[in-house]
Amino acid sequence: MRFACLVAILIAAVPASAQELGLPADCTPGKDCFVQQFMDMQEGGGIADPFCGNAAYDGHEGTDLRVLSMADVERGVPVVAMADGTVLRGRDGEPDHLVVTDQDRAAVADKECGNGMVVDHGGGLEVQYCHMRRGSLVVAPGDTVNRGQKLGEIGASGMAAFPHVHVTVRRDGTVVEPMTGRRPGQGCLKEPGQAAPLFAADVAAALGGGRPQLLAMGLAGEPLDHAALPVSGPPPAATAASPNLVGWGWLINLRAGDRIRLVVTGPDGATFAETMTERMDRPKAAYSSFAGKRGAPAPGRYDLKVEVWGNAGAILRKSGSFTVE
Ligand SMILES: [Zn+2]
Repeated sequence: MRFACLVAILIAAVPASAQELGLPADCTPGKDCFVQQFMDMQEGGGIADPFCGNAAYDGHEGTDLRVLSMADVERGVPVVAMADGTVLRGRDGEPDHLVVTDQDRAAVADKECGNGMVVDHGGGLEVQYCHMRRGSLVVAPGDTVNRGQKLGEIGASGMAAFPHVHVTVRRDGTVVEPMTGRRPGQGCLKEPGQAAPLFAADVAAALGGGRPQLLAMGLAGEPLDHAALPVSGPPPAATAASPNLVGWGWLINLRAGDRIRLVVTGPDGATFAETMTERMDRPKAAYSSFAGKRGAPAPGRYDLKVEVWGNAGAILRKSGSFTVE
């Protein structure tokens, strides 16, 4: 009996971080949403994501869960509460506009978070949700919310170069990195096994470790326009009437030295087009590559392979089949 009581007391004394945070959006990581950037764990200059990689940018204090493009924003992807809580404060009314130029950046100075809110998730945990879609907020200060409840939608308000929800997690007023449970001053973690995530284990596993990821791939009828990807998303699929046939891949979080290999195999089984990029001269937050040929393609089934090659060989391989008709 005394033992049972002791166990009960110990459980009660576990800090509130034992509440397991869920995803901040209603989406499937690796399928229709992706971590573009984690928190920067390196103080001063330089970058280190929570696992000592480069999936961060200097001074970044949160986790960015992105969708592919503004087309997804228009479709409407819910931002949801990561845990039960109470809405403390919020802002709406800022436009959704991808920041590209210095002028864009100046326009959102002091409003970097854009439309968003701060939710008190209890036990000293607060989460700030940012870059939500204008007019999408469906809860107000004072409202209580349940884990998974819709707060609004993913947008591109404030300082957003791609559509995403940014979350900053604070425990007792101090920023904490939710994949590892570490504060920025504690630096990154080379051994992921030592992480004490605030995220539920399945969520942390699904978000990955900042390794290169494929956002999308396909066959298009025109050379790929990299700048158009976050605006309008993947290009239209090639048809037998297209002026070209181009296999393409859109990737994030490449490291310096990585190379991208693309292989398109035609309906006859022969290699239709193939390319291997030079080694990346520096980390690339987002990158796209394509390989193809001029002229209307023969109809039929084409296979596309997209690979990321590091110094020690292929570190990511994806393949798919596409019918041109
Ligand atoms: Zn961010």
